Amino acid sequence: MALREVLQFPDPRLKRVSEPIEKISDEVRALARDMLEVMYDEPGIGLAAPQVGEAVRLIVMDTDWKDEDGAGERNPLVLVNPEIIAREGSLIWTEACLSVPDFSAEVERAARVVVRGTNLDGREVVEEAEELRAVCFQHEIDHLDGVLFIDRISRLKRSLYVSKRKKALRLEEAPGAR
Ligand SMILES: [Zn+2]
Repeated sequence: MALREVLQFPDPRLKRVSEPIEKISDEVRALARDMLEVMYDEPGIGLAAPQVGEAVRLIVMDTDWKDEDGAGERNPLVLVNPEIIAREGSLIWTEACLSVPDFSAEVERAARVVVRGTNLDGREVVEEAEELRAVCFQHEIDHLDGVLFIDRISRLKRSLYVSKRKKALRLEEAPGAR
């Protein structure tokens, strides 16, 4: 079966605010499974449902996984309705995103966060995170609110990226055009 497609900026669906998940149905479980497949395939360390076109509050992450020889141990985290319930300190982290092709930039984030959500069994999960994991939680939960990391960088850097991206898209549409 084909993998779900990852939406890319400037797809307007990335800007929607996602709805809470009220019931963990088979559909939600299947979506989580699809998202993990896409994440490991890309590869990435996190993915939010809106990135595959589903406007629901669901994220998957695996910040330990490394694809060095394709045999890295997988330790996936699936969180339904995640929210940041505490944040502390700040740090600067260089971020990238599967939905923002060919770009990375420094973003200021909280250094430590506490995240609360539900797992696929409906049990409450509370995760404390720092550094990369804290950044990843903030980045993925931002997606649920329609926010991309390029919305958190300087206006100048953002507009440089947007014009570069628009140019790349024009070339994609008209291959061979100058
Ligand atoms: Zn992202």
